[in-house]
Amino acid sequence: MTRYIGAHVSIAGGVENAPLRAGEIGATAFAMFTKNQRQWRAPALSAASVEAFRNNCEALGYESQYILPHDSYLINLGNPDPEKLGRSREAFIDEMKRAETLGLTLLNFHPGSHLREIPERECLRTIAESINLALEATSSVTAVIENTAGQGSNLGHSFEQIAEIIDRIEDRRRVGACLDTCHLFAAGYDLRDADAVEKTFGTFDDTVGLEYLRGMHLNDAKLGLGSRRDRHESIGKGSIGTKGFAALVRHPATGDIPLILETPKPEIWKDEIALLHSLEQSEDC
Ligand SMILES: [Zn+2]
Ligand SMILES: [Zn+2]
Repeated sequence: MTRYIGAHVSIAGGVENAPLRAGEIGATAFAMFTKNQRQWRAPALSAASVEAFRNNCEALGYESQYILPHDSYLINLGNPDPEKLGRSREAFIDEMKRAETLGLTLLNFHPGSHLREIPERECLRTIAESINLALEATSSVTAVIENTAGQGSNLGHSFEQIAEIIDRIEDRRRVGACLDTCHLFAAGYDLRDADAVEKTFGTFDDTVGLEYLRGMHLNDAKLGLGSRRDRHESIGKGSIGTKGFAALVRHPATGDIPLILETPKPEIWKDEIALLHSLEQSEDC
């Protein structure tokens, strides 16, 4: 059991419950929201909650590089409307600060959408500027850009777009990428066997650089290659399949980063984690 595998667990009852829930399913990494992700504003984290979170992480052996908090889905760092962009930037900085308060070092987010109102390049520039502002306002959290499925006007579905954002970041030590396997597959990057996985990581390395990879979301895909639609499926039950995930958990690129399930059935996360560890060890496939 060497890979750091976990799931995006619930914070119901308080953020301090996330590490406990991760522990219950045998996870060695986990993801979480730091507030209700459907609301713009949230009360500040209480000192008791922060302390309990830190204590629980320490007791269960979760280090910050294997904990991948996710920001609110309401935030669009590339919003063409100046007022809405301002609101998103403010909320994003608040999320970065919440992560810092919890002693965390990563914040995972979806880059943003042009809403068909501005050209793609302009939106990518706006996103990069939003990240620069957030990095200036904080001191220790890395902004981790997640690749998207390319649904609607969401950017970040190609490695070139991610590279273009990173190129414009002033402090590149505090920017990274998270690759979601379902999103990769939906965007046209194949992962169905060892050769396909090797090729996709090779393309990512050439375009963005594997040194920026800070985490992955492990989700099988309900739909086919290049569907451009974001539909997660349980591991081995979708179009990527067991062979693809075996290759993923054995690839050197996944060795020291959090690998997070966002699959649709939390009741089988424990089994999925065990399955992924068995794939990591097995010889065939
Ligand atoms: Zn994801
Ligand atoms: Zn998704």
